[in-house]
Amino acid sequence: MAGKYSISVLLVMLLVSAGLSGCFGNDSTYVEKGIPGGLTLACLSDAKYTSLVVEIDYEAGYMPEQSSTELLKTRLEQVCNKPQGIEILLTETNFEHEGQWSSSDVRDKSWDKKSEDPQTGSTLYWQAIFPSGQYANDGVLGVAVDASTVAIFGESVDDAEGPIFNRPSSEEIENSVLVHEFGHLLGLVNLVYQSPVDHEDEEHKGHSNNEDSVMYWAIESANIGNIITGQLPDDFDSDDLNDLAGMLSGEIETDNQLWTN
Ligand SMILES: [Zn+2]
Repeated sequence: MAGKYSISVLLVMLLVSAGLSGCFGNDSTYVEKGIPGGLTLACLSDAKYTSLVVEIDYEAGYMPEQSSTELLKTRLEQVCNKPQGIEILLTETNFEHEGQWSSSDVRDKSWDKKSEDPQTGSTLYWQAIFPSGQYANDGVLGVAVDASTVAIFGESVDDAEGPIFNRPSSEEIENSVLVHEFGHLLGLVNLVYQSPVDHEDEEHKGHSNNEDSVMYWAIESANIGNIITGQLPDDFDSDDLNDLAGMLSGEIETDNQLWTN
């Protein structure tokens, strides 16, 4: 596999990961497992992968809210062409991990639990883990660590809940963070392409500058309750959706793909 990647691709990947912060794990093991966005076309298109399974592995006490998994399914159905359907597979597990999580911890422990390779036959497998414990970088609610894997830190999500009259509630935050992290697996924003529209936040690379987009940078932040009061965005905005449509049609060039038509 590794031989297929040219030096320039590796350089681009290094440049991309160097510019990311917060909710991206950034180390050098991306080549085999891909970068977040590396399976964007595999999800958007039905040319090879006609179904999608979202594996959710959670530790006792950290099962996601039903509203979160239902919302995720709805959002993915809106953008990924999967005629054989999108299925959510919930499994309680024990990651046997003590203390804080680094991005490589997330990657290693997630891959230990994957029921199938992400690209198996005509099915694409994406995975979210909900471990106990917190991420090593303070105030990070979720991370996307490679082309098929995200983690949501429930303890931090609960801590991020706003004051009583100024909700968002932890459930609403979890809804948005889960969709946000899968948005990174879809390559948003500018992870594996360059948008024709200037909607990437200058100070938070890989994120939207629109506070009405679920890809808004603050969605990943533990300060979210202080930054956004009232209704949190839980949907992609028109710029995000146009980027996805452009990648699918080929109008927007897509890089670092583990699968292309
Ligand atoms: Zn993010």
